[in-house]
Amino acid sequence: MSGVEDLYQEMILDHYKSPRNFGKLENPDSEIEGRNPLCGDHLVVQMRFEKDQIAEVAFEGDGCAISKASASVMTETIRGMTRGEFQEVFAVFQALVTGVESDSVLELGKLAAFGGVAAFPARVKCAVLAWHTAKAALEGHKGSISTEEKV
Ligand code: ZN
Repeated sequence: MSGVEDLYQEMILDHYKSPRNFGKLENPDSEIEGRNPLCGDHLVVQMRFEKDQIAEVAFEGDGCAISKASASVMTETIRGMTRGEFQEVFAVFQALVTGVESDSVLELGKLAAFGGVAAFPARVKCAVLAWHTAKAALEGHKGSISTEEKV
């Protein structure tokens, strides 16, 4: 294993064991539940908006290391973003974990750690669950979404 892969592995484990922004918001504007029945991942994403910006984002739930670490890194990444910025980074992340070449010039930062998921198709839904849930919350959906159903 290369040094970079070790570092990524460590980063994912760290976010799994001590997830960031884990818990509930006091006054969320949006709350949605996301499920990935193929793996048993389950989480709730809450957001509070200020105009067009994601002012606060938090998540709760349980799942495999990839799903939880991905949710944790996502909350860190999207906090403070506008809806447009979210859509852009969502598309880049989706391309990254499905192994699609992207010509985006966005800095991936910690998100790059999930690039290895592309080699394991069964884990792609674990990695994108939090992102799909956040997207649904941002678009004003209510209730819950599943990786096995179209939103
Ligand atoms: Zn999973």
